[in-house]
Amino acid sequence: MKSYAETKQVKKSISSGDVEAVQTSKNMLYGKKAIVLAAGSWSGLLMEDLVRGLDITLNVPVEPRKGHLLVLENFSCLQLNHGLMEMGYIDHQVVSLTSGHEDQRQTLFVSMTATMDLMGNLVLGSSRQFSGFNIQVDESVVLSIWKRAGDFFPKLREQSLTDFIKSRKVRIGLRPYMPDGKPVIGPVPGLSNLYLATGHEGEGLTLVILHYLYFLLENQKN
Ligand SMILES: Cc1cc2nc3c(=O)[nH]c(=O)nc-3n(C[C@H](O)[C@H](O)[C@H](O)COP(=O)(O)OP(=O)(O)OC[C@H]3O[C@@H](n4cnc5c(N)ncnc54)[C@H](O)[C@@H]3O)c2cc1C
Repeated sequence: MKSYAETKQVKKSISSGDVEAVQTSKNMLYGKKAIVLAAGSWSGLLMEDLVRGLDITLNVPVEPRKGHLLVLENFSCLQLNHGLMEMGYIDHQVVSLTSGHEDQRQTLFVSMTATMDLMGNLVLGSSRQFSGFNIQVDESVVLSIWKRAGDFFPKLREQSLTDFIKSRKVRIGLRPYMPDGKPVIGPVPGLSNLYLATGHEGEGLTLVILHYLYFLLENQKN
């Protein structure tokens, strides 16, 4: 896997005015046809940096929505043949953050998801909460996930999570959340050759093929 250094700024061509490269903390990376800004929850901050001093106002109100996943290694009491997810996982994707609904911002949402990973571990999820870019494990959230899973798999209620303390891991991620629940994808106005792809919240992996197709078709048009 190739990893890149932190992106600092976009560079415009002096002759055409098109965005032609990004300056990273290590080097300059040139995009032959286009440059895609896909920095998840960091995209809004990065965009602010990129347009600073360019006489363009662009607001990308994407924000991090933290999620916990509970991973149980060598967990023999529950084995799944396929993944499971409760409908609430989809319903909780968008919350009303308009005035009068401030409580929704404080609410911890937990909806049951259960899968086996490639190593045969049981992966239980998942939570949603707004707590900035903080990626600390919150034990109360882990417990809520465990309890919610118990509502769907009564066998789990016979077990105590503390019994699995040694074989238990927690994964934390930040979902890129847009206030209207819709991903932002497409060309950035005023910065030709620069595309934005963010705001996928809890569906970034699911939608990746569709977005790939979008860029493929866009590319064919040009
Ligand atoms: C608990 C949990 C469960 C989920 N389950 C599912 C699921 O079942 N199905 C599904 O489809 N989706 C799921 N998701 C959502 C999915 O993970 C996200 O939608 C997806 O990761 C978003 O992808 P992204 O590339 O836009 O952002 P990210 O995955 O956040 O990637 C952005 C990357 O940009 C990098 N970056 C930031 N700033 C800079 C910079 N200045 N320079 C260079 N790099 C930078 C970051 O380090 C990061 O690696 C889940 C998320 C969580 C948290």
